[in-house]
Amino acid sequence: MNISKLEKIAEGKYKVYSASCSECGDIAAIEVDSKWVFDMHQGGRVSDLMPFPKYSMAIREKFISGLCEPCWNKVMMGAELVAENLNS
Ligand SMILES: [Zn+2]
Repeated sequence: MNISKLEKIAEGKYKVYSASCSECGDIAAIEVDSKWVFDMHQGGRVSDLMPFPKYSMAIREKFISGLCEPCWNKVMMGAELVAENLNS
């Protein structure tokens, strides 16, 4: 879980901010309850805390690597190009 900030917005309600994207600085935020925060502090995994399809793959990725979808695609494309160059 890659979190930059946790903000209490109401009784039992929290706003969780992802790490900023290393490419463009974009930050995503989700609203959760206190049980979620407790589970997260207990070392909960992203796959349990942010089940698909309630949370999209793109937002999950923000809370794993910090990368947003467009930048993630860019990085993946770069990795493929490197792999191609290694093979040739
Ligand atoms: Zn980005």
